Amino acid sequence: MFSIWERTSFSGNYDLAVVGAGITGLFTALHYRRAHPQARVLVLERGPHPSGASVKNAGFACFGSPSELLRNMDEEGEAAALQRVEQRWRGLLELRETLGDPGIGFEPVGGHEVFGADEPLYTRVAERFDALNAALHGIFGKPVFSWSDDRISPMGLRAAHLSFNPLEGAVDSGMLMRTLLRKVQGEGVDVRYKAPVAGWEDGPGGVNIRMAEGEAVQARCVVVATNGYTRALVPASDIAPGRGQVLLTSVVPGLQLNGTFHKEEGYFYFRHYHGRVLLGGGRHLDKAGETTTGDGTTPRIQNALEELLRTMILPGRAFTIEQRWSGVMGFRTQGGPPVVKHLSPHVVLAAGLGGIGVAIGIRVARQAAELVGSRTD
Ligand SMILES: Cc1cc2nc3c(=O)[nH]c(=O)nc-3n(C[C@H](O)[C@H](O)[C@H](O)COP(=O)(O)OP(=O)(O)OC[C@H]3O[C@@H](n4cnc5c(N)ncnc54)[C@H](O)[C@@H]3O)c2cc1C
Repeated sequence: MFSIWERTSFSGNYDLAVVGAGITGLFTALHYRRAHPQARVLVLERGPHPSGASVKNAGFACFGSPSELLRNMDEEGEAAALQRVEQRWRGLLELRETLGDPGIGFEPVGGHEVFGADEPLYTRVAERFDALNAALHGIFGKPVFSWSDDRISPMGLRAAHLSFNPLEGAVDSGMLMRTLLRKVQGEGVDVRYKAPVAGWEDGPGGVNIRMAEGEAVQARCVVVATNGYTRALVPASDIAPGRGQVLLTSVVPGLQLNGTFHKEEGYFYFRHYHGRVLLGGGRHLDKAGETTTGDGTTPRIQNALEELLRTMILPGRAFTIEQRWSGVMGFRTQGGPPVVKHLSPHVVLAAGLGGIGVAIGIRVARQAAELVGSRTD
């Protein structure tokens, strides 16, 4: 039994309801509200706080390592791959400008790719290194990648080759999401936690959103920004979940590692974090097993991560593991960029951000806000 005040200020009809308070969902709400300052906008989040990949990731502010970009070019064609790099680069700049570097804990430490001795991948990348820089010239106006093997030993790595990209960096993902939440709420968007959406009916007057518990929510239109969890709501979606596992060491005395690092086409990634090593990846070692929305880590992947610590990142040094966690990404099953499309007249899906979502969340969100805002009924 709601009072008139609850009905008018805390429930009733919303102009836009966004499902999912990740980077995509929150920026969608923000863009929409800025374009429609009178609109009532609500974000529905199943967790006690944002609980998806946006708060589980490694905090790389990146747009792709050389081997990953070359693979993308081979698989998608050069034009499509370059377009994605440009989206990511512009997204990073926009993210930094919108939330401010201090607000996201941005560190301009650069991005690296590490290669071991006799790695066939190194030969393949080295052969096309100059061509890659030339292809990227149209976006950056200068060479992006350079070889930086002289920095391997000072950073304590056991590796043979290191490429360096000064344009990438690291963020504090928790700080980023807190700053984004504050901005979104400060600009008049309501955020409701512990509010899992169970489904919806799209009718002529708008959308009736069924909640897993409690009263339904009515909204004129809806954006579904549930990324890796999308299939629970849209079973026919071409977005498959992909779990990523991470570990964090305890403080390693005298750690000289500084920057963000990729290895093997981005399938492994590591960085410094307050004197510790944060390391993740290895999904390619068990793709079937990691196609899941389940929380958790597995010995197979965690052992591979620890092996990398022992042999390449902290060779000959003692370390202990302080924490392990996992998060769920959303990947298009046939590859390609994120999807932003109507599921029905008043419902838009914005998902499939893959492994480099920090950079593009803000732009995918703009597309979603514009698409859903283009309906006038
Ligand atoms: C381990 C790991 C490391 C990564 N590292 C990086 C990195 O270093 N750099 C980078 O650029 N990208 C990285 N990524 C990818 C990046 O984090 C994602 O692409 C990005 O965060 C996706 O944002 P999103 O808002 O679309 O999805 P999410 O952040 O997953 O948000 C979806 C939200 O929807 C909510 N939700 C789901 N179902 C429901 C429901 N039924 N009702 C209500 N709410 C619901 C979830 O709780 C969640 O909060 C990483 C991802 C992982 C998992």
